[in-house]
Amino acid sequence: MNSKDGGPRRAQGGSPIRDNNRDLVLEVLRRNQPISRVEIARKSGLQRSTISSIVDGLIEERWVREGSVVKTERGRRPTMLTMNDDLLLLVGDIRPTKAILAVVDLNGKFLDRTMVPIIADPKQGVDLVAEGMRHLQSHFRGKTWEGAGISLAGRVNKITQKLAWAPNLPWVGFDIRGTLRKALKIQVELENAANACLLSEVWFGHMEGIQSAVLITISEGVGAAALVNGSLMEGADGLAGEFGHVPVSDSGPRCACGQVGCWEMFASSRAALRYLQEEMKGKGAPTIQELMNLEASGDEAARAALNRQAEWIGRGLRVVTAVFNPELILFVGDITLRWDVVGPIINAELTRRLVGGAQPRIAILSDGEAARLRGAAAVLLQRHISFKRTSAIR
Ligand SMILES: [Zn+2]
Repeated sequence: MNSKDGGPRRAQGGSPIRDNNRDLVLEVLRRNQPISRVEIARKSGLQRSTISSIVDGLIEERWVREGSVVKTERGRRPTMLTMNDDLLLLVGDIRPTKAILAVVDLNGKFLDRTMVPIIADPKQGVDLVAEGMRHLQSHFRGKTWEGAGISLAGRVNKITQKLAWAPNLPWVGFDIRGTLRKALKIQVELENAANACLLSEVWFGHMEGIQSAVLITISEGVGAAALVNGSLMEGADGLAGEFGHVPVSDSGPRCACGQVGCWEMFASSRAALRYLQEEMKGKGAPTIQELMNLEASGDEAARAALNRQAEWIGRGLRVVTAVFNPELILFVGDITLRWDVVGPIINAELTRRLVGGAQPRIAILSDGEAARLRGAAAVLLQRHISFKRTSAIR
């Protein structure tokens, strides 16, 4: 597809994340199942006719099932609706050193999980992921697969769907989606991990009514995703939101992207480990978990390292808030493990450095792994709809 005609870009990038009525029906259904059409109308406030056509569509797509008939006091017998338990999704979270693979249902519930290592050769690496997914599938014979959603530590070009940029993953330029599609023979969708986490909150979380939000992942690197006026910011090549590589200093160690002074080199878990090493004159802790444990046991050097990391995170937020003016900033990743220590520092830095307007609310997603995987499911569910909407121009 020629990207210059503007068609698919506009159709995908400019459309809001959710089809409001359809999503409202799905949400009411998911939270209250089994539930009748009449009850959905009462709880959602939508017209009966709107609900009927949405529910018919969902049944046709096999997302929703008509189940038992319930006898009510007045003797009427509404047909009850439930989400289709037999429809499953494969999800994957591809990180720099490992891929976590899982099976989820349409409710976002995890049913199975496995892990495979990441190896440098892209063909062999992606084959391992496919093998892991097929292995998971073999545990659920007789079920139907909606597709596979993948969140990964990199940026995916929306047009070619190839990995366009990933300083910490050695598979740039490789056709991950095509290879998985061929191996699994189902729809496969890829998305950046930060975008996936934000989508997870929109689909399965509590972001009702929030139009402007930024999500920041702090682990090996620093990633970001932004919800702008209700739409996920993507950019021309899917690279928008790489705040980890905004310069915050003119010195420091060289980043994997090739530059010096990137925010990621001062605010990531790797930076915290470096600070600890500096504090302890070359010793330190080999993993961020060990650093956190040290800090929790009262180690002063570990506390100082975390404080320094938190201050740098706060400094970078000036750029984020100046660009997006978000009402909500969500943090996910290692940093949330000791949020009682780092949260107040980040909040204080934010207050000190805010450009203007009301201070955004800061919150954390404590289960980052689940958010990435649920996000991968949300990507698939969202694209399923947008695929239908835009199939005419595809
Ligand atoms: Zn960089």
